[in-house]
Amino acid sequence: MVIRPGARGRAVRDIQLRLLALGYDIDDAERATEYGPTTTSAVRAFQQQRGLLVDGVVGPESWRELVEASWRLGDRVMYLRSPQIRGDDVRDLQERLSALGFDTGRIDGIFGPRTAAAVREFQTNYGIPPDGIVAKSTVRALAGLPHLGHASVPPAARVREREALRRIGGMAGLRVVLDPGHGGDDEGSTGPTGVTEAGCVYALARELEAALATSGAAVYLTRDLSSAPTDGERAALANSLHADLFISLHVAAHDDTAANGAATFYYGHERFESEAGARLAELAQESVCELGLVDGRTHAKTFPILRETRMPAIQIEPCYVSNPREELLLDDPAFRRRLATAIAGAVREFVSSAVPA
Ligand SMILES: [Zn+2]
Repeated sequence: MVIRPGARGRAVRDIQLRLLALGYDIDDAERATEYGPTTTSAVRAFQQQRGLLVDGVVGPESWRELVEASWRLGDRVMYLRSPQIRGDDVRDLQERLSALGFDTGRIDGIFGPRTAAAVREFQTNYGIPPDGIVAKSTVRALAGLPHLGHASVPPAARVREREALRRIGGMAGLRVVLDPGHGGDDEGSTGPTGVTEAGCVYALARELEAALATSGAAVYLTRDLSSAPTDGERAALANSLHADLFISLHVAAHDDTAANGAATFYYGHERFESEAGARLAELAQESVCELGLVDGRTHAKTFPILRETRMPAIQIEPCYVSNPREELLLDDPAFRRRLATAIAGAVREFVSSAVPA
């Protein structure tokens, strides 16, 4: 389902109602009639705020995010089930528990095993039967406690990430999952002369694999040349391998062929960000830009691949394949090797700063 500017009908009305409930402005004249300019700018503002791709179009990801954003703590009974419950009510729960010192893991809005364990621990502490189910009594107990607010990163989530980093012993044996985007029938973006994203990020992943392996890291790729796993499958693979780091490789594309430069993304939203992801992103971005690429900076995003992975994860987009000059660079094996060397250098620096001296 993709709803675009100019669309009409019930789906548009539903999108508008959700945006209005979230506090976004939509012109009266557009309400209930059409996906006009103010609906489009509300969608863009929502996408910006939620760390999504900002295109003003409601595709499956933006729709899922709109639905998740609509849930409030207490709206529904929450517990560990499959598929796991997702939404801002889970995020709020995690934030409150984490602020009280109960370790829910990342504030990611996914009710997983660690969140369930934190709920049971909280219930035990507050004299509620520890069933891990968030129903009225638990919501009431949480609501009765001072809410420490959204200003700072909740302490338990941050402590947990630091502990995970402490387990990294150095480059030898470091488990790194490399994720070349797209693949199989999905070529990703294509450059003016036909260089495909899927092809060049796969070649880059192979170079990076070699560069990291020389430092003793154990490197895994999420796909081969012909396969195209979903983002969920890629993240699940990294999680099951207990990877220490996850690096997704894509390239950018834009209608304006002048657009160029590098950008790096890590997991985060307006109320939480992965400290380790941000640091790794910063190092990778700096290192890649030393090759003379324009600095498109690092950004906190909620891309599924960053959200579903349980280790520090980044997505690097070193170039625009739509830019004729950068397309040539991406197609050049010597340049890909320099990129791989730059990224591997950033990983080494990250690891040496994570390992206590
Ligand atoms: Zn891509």
